[in-house]
Amino acid sequence: MYKIAIDGPGGAGKSTVAKAVAAALKITYVDTGALYRTIGLYVKQKKVDPSDAQAVTALLPEIHIELLYRDGTQHILLNGEDVGDSIRTQEISMYASKVSAYPAVRDFLLSTQRDIAKTQSVIMDGRDIGTVIFPDAEVKIFMTATAENRAERRYKELIDRGVPADYEVILEEIKTRDRNDSTRATAPLKQADDAILLDNTGFKLEESVDAVLKIIAEKLPETAK
Ligand code: C5P
Repeated sequence: MYKIAIDGPGGAGKSTVAKAVAAALKITYVDTGALYRTIGLYVKQKKVDPSDAQAVTALLPEIHIELLYRDGTQHILLNGEDVGDSIRTQEISMYASKVSAYPAVRDFLLSTQRDIAKTQSVIMDGRDIGTVIFPDAEVKIFMTATAENRAERRYKELIDRGVPADYEVILEEIKTRDRNDSTRATAPLKQADDAILLDNTGFKLEESVDAVLKIIAEKLPETAK
């Protein structure tokens, strides 16, 4: 069994790439951002101010989160109900970014993330996988791209899905989240000393997937076919 950690800022394509790599290696993909988004969703549902650390912390005992896999796809149950795509909005991104700065929230999600790797090989993406969750991960990759390139990808993705989008607004949101994620005191976004940097600015999806598979094959030759 092994663990692959992919950290990096929002919009670098971590989850799309990690999903493709998980399918290629037949291992489990864990999207940890979705866990923070789920806490953000609950905070919004309860009409609590996400900037109020005490109020957010007080909600945690009411929250029960379960990770389920159906046909290889991750589902999150929040108090028994599948959150589905309701966590994928820009608004919930900002809620997640705010609540993820609180140590109590990070502690709350720690065992959910660690437990899943006890019984199977995983590729997990997030902000602190290689630094905090699995400092002993066999492979650590820090995936990044310029803020402009990440905003451009997100913009195209939305337009392709027929969702109206504004490039400048997306760029601002990406920069704000970068700032929140990398300046917080607890588990800030940073490259682990032993992580390999992959700057995929200008890469097509397949190029990022190939680059990640190559890094993994070098570190874990048994995964290369
Ligand atoms: O990866 P994603 O964009 O879905 O993550 C949403 C937010 O959750 C991030 O902006 C970040 O604040 C937080 N997050 C985190 N630690 C992780 C994964 C996500 O703090 N491991």
